[in-house]
Amino acid sequence: MNFCSHCGQPVRFAIPDMDNRPRYLCDHCGSIHYQNPRLITGTLPVAPDDRILLCRRAIEPRLGYWTLPAGFMENGETVVAGALRETLEEAQVKAHNPVLLSMISLPEFDQVHIFYRVDMPDFHYDVTPESSAVELFEIDALPWDQIAFRTVTATLEHFLAVRDQEVPAVLTGAIEPR
Ligand code: ZN
Repeated sequence: MNFCSHCGQPVRFAIPDMDNRPRYLCDHCGSIHYQNPRLITGTLPVAPDDRILLCRRAIEPRLGYWTLPAGFMENGETVVAGALRETLEEAQVKAHNPVLLSMISLPEFDQVHIFYRVDMPDFHYDVTPESSAVELFEIDALPWDQIAFRTVTATLEHFLAVRDQEVPAVLTGAIEPR
C-alpha cells in the first residue's frame, strides 16, 4: 500500500501507538489500515453413492489441478453460507447438511481454510467458468498426484480417516512453509 484508501495521501509503514506491529498509517487523516488473514471456505461434497466430487481448476493458480469447491468468504455472509455458495458457483451443486470437517491455518499465505462435508441431493453437477471439469471419484481412485492445494489433500485424507464417524472429528492445525 502506497496511498491511503480513505483520503488518497501517502501512507507510511510503522508501529502505531499502543500497538506492537507495523501497520500502514496515514498522517493526513489518521487512518490505520489493518491487514488481517483471509478466510477460504469450501466443501467436500459426497454423492448419494458415496463418491466424492472434485473440480478441475479452470483458473490460476494451479490451473488444471483438481480441488474441492472453495473460495474467499464474502462480507455479510456466514462461513457455512459461503461454503455452500462456492459449491454452487464452482460445481452447480445445491449441497446440504454441512458438517465441519477441517480448519487449517496457512500463516505463510495469511489465510485460513475451512471445509465442510456436505451431501449432494442427487447426481446433478456441471462445469462452470471456474471449473473446466467436475467429476465424481471413487474413494480408492482419487487423483492424489493432481490435487491443487495442500489443505485439500489434508482434508481428503482426514475425511477418509473419519468417514465412519457419525459426527466426524475436526482436523485442525497449520500448514507451515515448505
Ligand atoms: Zn488518509
